[in-house]
Amino acid sequence: MSVTLAHKVTKQDLEKEIFDLKNLLEISKSLSSTLDYSILNDSILYTCLGALAVMKAAFFSKKSIDSTDFTLHRGFLGFEIDHNREYSLGERSPLIEYLNTHFRCHTLSELVHALPKNHEIEVLQAIEPSIIVPLRAKGTINGLLILGEKIDGSAFNERDMAYLLNLGSFAAIAMHNAFLFEMTTTDMMTKLKLKHVFLNSLQEKIQNWEEGRPIFSSIMLDIDHFKRLNDTFGHLAGDEVLKAVAKTLFENVRSMDLAARYGGEEFIVLLPEAGMLQAVEVAERVRQAIETNVVVFNSHRLSVTVSLGVAEFQPKRDLSSQPFIERVDQAMYRSKEAGRNRVTFSE
Ligand code: GH3
Ligand code: MG
Ligand code: MG
Repeated sequence: MSVTLAHKVTKQDLEKEIFDLKNLLEISKSLSSTLDYSILNDSILYTCLGALAVMKAAFFSKKSIDSTDFTLHRGFLGFEIDHNREYSLGERSPLIEYLNTHFRCHTLSELVHALPKNHEIEVLQAIEPSIIVPLRAKGTINGLLILGEKIDGSAFNERDMAYLLNLGSFAAIAMHNAFLFEMTTTDMMTKLKLKHVFLNSLQEKIQNWEEGRPIFSSIMLDIDHFKRLNDTFGHLAGDEVLKAVAKTLFENVRSMDLAARYGGEEFIVLLPEAGMLQAVEVAERVRQAIETNVVVFNSHRLSVTVSLGVAEFQPKRDLSSQPFIERVDQAMYRSKEAGRNRVTFSE
């Protein structure tokens, strides 16, 4: 009798294992289908939620390639989170080091007992997760999945934890790949995209464009008299101003727009779904924001202006990216010739 029972349990176990493995395969496929770091951050949480029978889930990851903290992803579910508080965990904190050396799922009370009270423990205590799943790829922790109680009220067992750790590995590898991709496509000084990323995107847009699709536009901008600023205040001051211009530009375009460093002190933006009027409006907003921004360097208050050119894609003229870029470039040079610190559009 007991032999039969044991056999039955094993069969159920195997069926559940097959179900779990199929689920993991789907999750792996879904997570490895994107290299976009921010899209991936969104999909990890929703993919995990879809696969796990839990009431609450949240996710800590690095916001960008130069972050030194893991911050709570805004798409959490179920946990009572104070929106005015920043929940962050230091990359080199004792908690993250402990999770790397004791690589498995932990309950909150296990961590509270294992580690002295510190900032990271307080952050976790404020959220009160039931289980903490470290995400690790290439020997480095790159995120944390935290879950609330299971829907059926039962405790997480060994099998659940093994499953979660597997799921976490897929998420961690996908994040690691997206991270490497981000590194190789980003200008590390300005944190904007590299020129070739812009050129590839533009070429793709032009090739795929067909009647009825939204028109797109581009803005090129060049810092005015930048050599003079370098000569007067030094290259380090110039670098700070350059970074500030890039930041202001990034903050004044939409997340769907692609802002890239085109050359030394030249930038270019691709604005999908923006016609001439909208693009000129964005360019003028960027111009004003840069003009009013002040960078303090060695107690000098530095500010610059930029000259901008705008062009809207014209399918009959812009048969490849070259004539289109030439038009944006010429519009920008007309802004220079007309006295700088202005927006000119290509007719
Ligand atoms: P214009 O208004 O006509 O654009 O004048 P400009 O002085 O900005 O133009 P020019 O092309 O003569 O000089 C561009 C300068 O930008 C020269 C170069 O040293 C500087 N530059 C390019 N890249 C960097 C950088 O990464 N850091 C710093 N500090 N300067 C840079
Ligand atoms: Mg230039
Ligand atoms: Mg210049």
